[in-house]
Amino acid sequence: MADSKETKTAGRPAARKQAQREEATGQAVGAPAKGTDPQGNGETPQLPTAGEEGAELEGVPELPPFEIIRGDRMDPFFFKFQFKNVEYSSGRNKTFLCFLVDSQSSNAVLQRGYLEDEHVGSHAEEAFFQQVLPQCDTNLNYMVTWYVSSSPCTSCAAKLVEILQARKTLRLAIYIARLFMWEEPEIRAGLKALAAAGCKLRMMKPLDFTYTWDTFVENEEQSFDPWEDCKDNYEYYQEKLAEILE
Ligand SMILES: [Zn+2]
Repeated sequence: MADSKETKTAGRPAARKQAQREEATGQAVGAPAKGTDPQGNGETPQLPTAGEEGAELEGVPELPPFEIIRGDRMDPFFFKFQFKNVEYSSGRNKTFLCFLVDSQSSNAVLQRGYLEDEHVGSHAEEAFFQQVLPQCDTNLNYMVTWYVSSSPCTSCAAKLVEILQARKTLRLAIYIARLFMWEEPEIRAGLKALAAAGCKLRMMKPLDFTYTWDTFVENEEQSFDPWEDCKDNYEYYQEKLAEILE
């Protein structure tokens, strides 16, 4: 059996190839039809989830192995695929969540990085509050900014509302590449509740994609070249979000 490191590095290019294939064909392998699973984020588990790699995640007992990947900067391919603000998100079976945390204390530690979920169980939104900001000092004000590939599912929206109600000194702003299943009444209600709880919700403009590229991607000093329709797609989603929140 290969050691866990070899297994891990071997697994990533395979996943990438699959994503490339899915984008090329416009078909998601094994993705359920729209509207079949409003509670579960409408997405299917993806390999690798093998338990043999669990040893790497010792010390995080509440999470099954290999569900959440946390990193400093993501691969440019993943950014360009996962954050692409297309109307139909074929093959994009994950949520990528880039975060900035400013705690506004005299010795403020700015936290920055990204989380990627495998959609087996815990979602990136929930993982943020388990792994990045498990506790808040009630004497400090926290400004948390996320750039997410897709908007929260119903379950995550409800959890975020609870967290915002419990942590009065925490402010959350979410910049979203794509709206997830926005026609579903439960999803719309979840976003409305989130906004009512004080969460700032915005669609990502072309400039936000550039900022995310500069800040969270292994960009090797290359500047970001927005895909065709980036601005049109932003305007489309922006209109939908405004309708939901009105
Ligand atoms: Zn979720």
